[in-house]
This record gives sequence, C-alpha cells and structure tokens, in this order.
Amino acid sequence: MTIDGPAGAGKSTVARALAAKLGFRYLDTGAMYRALTWLASERGAELEDEALLAELGRANPIDFDSEGHTRIGGIDVTEAIRRPEVDRVVSLVARQAEVRLIMRERQRELAALGDSVIEGRDIGSVVVPGAEVKVYLVADEGVRAGRRLAERPGSPAKALAADMRRRDERDAPQMQPAPDAVHIDTTDLSVEQVVERIEALVTEKLPSGR
Ligand code: C5P
Repeated sequence: MTIDGPAGAGKSTVARALAAKLGFRYLDTGAMYRALTWLASERGAELEDEALLAELGRANPIDFDSEGHTRIGGIDVTEAIRRPEVDRVVSLVARQAEVRLIMRERQRELAALGDSVIEGRDIGSVVVPGAEVKVYLVADEGVRAGRRLAERPGSPAKALAADMRRRDERDAPQMQPAPDAVHIDTTDLSVEQVVERIEALVTEKLPSGR
C-alpha cells in the first residue's frame, strides 16, 4: 500500500498506524532522502554535486532496524534527520536524478520484503506502480504548518511555515500522485478517521484481509 502527499498531510502518523493494525511493514522513504542529506552534510559535501551524492548513496545503503530506527553507514540518524537544518535542504538532494534512481532501487528492495505501507511523494506513481491500494493525502497549508510546528516544538512558527512552502515548491516536480490513487483531504479529519477510511479501501481491494 502506498501513501503519498506533501509534508504535514498526515502521511507518517497514518502510515504507522495502518502498518501496526494490518501487521504490514512500514517504510518511510522521506527518511531515506533525509539520511543521505544528513550524511552529505556531515561529510561537508556540496549538496548539489550529483555525482558525489550518488557515490555517497551507493556506498551507504540505508537500513531500518527492527525498532524502525533509520541507519546510514551504520550510524543511527533517526533523530538527527528531523532537524530543521535537514528540512531546509533535503529537497535539493532529493531532486537529483541519480539520487532518485539509487533511492528508488533501494525502496523497491525493501518493499519486496513483504506486505508494506510505504509513504513518500512518488511511491504509487513510480516506485511501486503495481501497489494494490494507493492513497494521496492532502491538507490545507495552514493545518500542515501547524502539524509540523507540533513536531518541532520551540521552532519559530513563521520560519517553519516559510520553510515548508519553499520545500513544497522544490518538491513539486517529484510530487507525482498516481492517477489511480484515492485522494483524502485530512484537513478536518482525525488520525482515526483517516485510518478508518484507508482500512475500508484495504478491505475492498484485499478481501482476504491481507
Ligand atoms: O516525507 P518527508 O517530509 O520526511 O520527506 C523529506 C523530503 O524527501 C521531501 O521534502 C522530498 O524532498 C523528499 N522525498 C522525495 N520522494 C519521496 C519521499 C521524500 O523526494 N518518495
């Protein structure tokens, strides 16, 4: 199952809840682009040097351990990749074609491990176009910024909202909703309501309950 959409639309919370309910694996593809961005920054790499970024990505495959922690080059970066410094530059890394090739290949390998809920921007359209259930989450910009603020306590609200807008613009070319994705506007819905709607889609498409 794929869940795509912009930052703050509710993807992670909903995808995690669904994976737990259905007994599926959970794959956060944004964490993968974030991890490579973190590593490149740590190494002092020029973030738009496509060849260098691709080399780093190839040499340091990203893994998720049994607790869902994100690792790159053997380092646990679960917390580091959520910092605003990463938010600000991740789309510069993610928009490079070679980086996307490497990440998509790794995402397909991880997706092949078993039934999964995979969240991202291009999962239903490009990474796993054969997925049985595809969802595209959206929400009003103000609500999305408010959710991001709740995850980044202490950050200045205006700067966060501006960062999010800039990231939306940079991510636009990579945002590819699948033509057959079911769109859900989460602006006025609780997490439980979104999860219920998607569960209903799963029951419809996968009558075995798988
Ligand atoms: O989902 P999250 O906000 O953590 O994603 C971080 C960034 O990774 C996005 O802003 C986008 O630049 C990139 N991304 C992507 N394709 C994906 C998932 C994330 O380009 N499938």
